[in-house]
Amino acid sequence: MTTPEPPPASLRLIVDEEALAANWRALDELSGRAKAGAAVKADGYGLGIAKVAPVLRDAGCATFYVAHWSEVAPLLAHVPAEATVVLHGPATAGEAAYGIATGVRPAINTLAQARLWREAGGGVCDLMVDTGINRLGLPPTELGDPVIAALEIDTLHSHLACADEDNPLNAVQLARWQSARGQVRHRRAALANSAGIVLGAAYHGDLTRPGLALYGGIARQELVGTIRQVARLETALLQVRDVAAGEGVGYNSTFVAPGPMRLGVVALGYADGYLRCWSGKGSLRSGEAELPVLGRVSMDMTIVDLTAAPRLREGDWLSVEYELPAAAAATGLSQYELLTLLGARFAR
Ligand SMILES: *Cc1c(COP(=O)(O)O)cnc(C)c1O
Repeated sequence: MTTPEPPPASLRLIVDEEALAANWRALDELSGRAKAGAAVKADGYGLGIAKVAPVLRDAGCATFYVAHWSEVAPLLAHVPAEATVVLHGPATAGEAAYGIATGVRPAINTLAQARLWREAGGGVCDLMVDTGINRLGLPPTELGDPVIAALEIDTLHSHLACADEDNPLNAVQLARWQSARGQVRHRRAALANSAGIVLGAAYHGDLTRPGLALYGGIARQELVGTIRQVARLETALLQVRDVAAGEGVGYNSTFVAPGPMRLGVVALGYADGYLRCWSGKGSLRSGEAELPVLGRVSMDMTIVDLTAAPRLREGDWLSVEYELPAAAAATGLSQYELLTLLGARFAR
């Protein structure tokens, strides 16, 4: 017996493809003489790689960054192997062999990775130099190692720790990156993430690596008015109920109805990435009507106040207030977390 086709999902993540393409073009423009690539790790920042990769490719993006090797195959369904870079680099001989077999470039982050890559057969790779974030990347003191000199480097990268603020470390990292550029042969150089692009031409090099801003995140205030929101969330109304004054709502009755109220229960919960920090804080919308979240968000459901839209019925669709900077301010979550949290039950 074959399994029947499932009915449509009761959660939707709608990607505004036009806004996504416009954001890439804006960041490419802001990158000046450098070309913008795209960080598409973590399933395109939670929006779905199959959704975002073709849009970015068709907008003109020619370099795509993922973190894990597990992210390569889903990306290669949409972009050429030579356009793909794996930021974590090869940690094992198996990963190096996979890079060579697929034609994907790793970013080499350590001398050990450089050796693994060469022993597997080598070929063109990228090199990540750590200039002050002290995360992943080769310390500048190791740039003179013969194993690095033997690499065939496409892009020499570094990554900024504080590009989203005006911090003296930005200029320090810029100087260290420029110095690294003088020490190893490479075809292109890259330093800037979304926020780094705003720091100006000196930070651009040949290639930039925006992520967050592509997907509507405001990485720095300068991007307000340029970057458009990309993700829209919608959920179905499962049940409408009327409660009397004094009734508790949801787990632990953290909200108690002050008078008779109409409530709506929607198919969105913390398992979908709508975390409990939205309890008593978030809002849904039906047209102009605002429907505040009441009580605790639970795993698969959230309860809202239908006072502003008493005619809503079971099966109607509501949108979730999820404007990124405002949502970050309301919850204390970062814009990055708000995007990458969005779960597998959203139809993308
Ligand atoms: C994730 C990542 C980016 C993208 O950063 P955003 O702040 O999302 O623009 C760029 N470079 C590296 C190395 C990254 O890991």
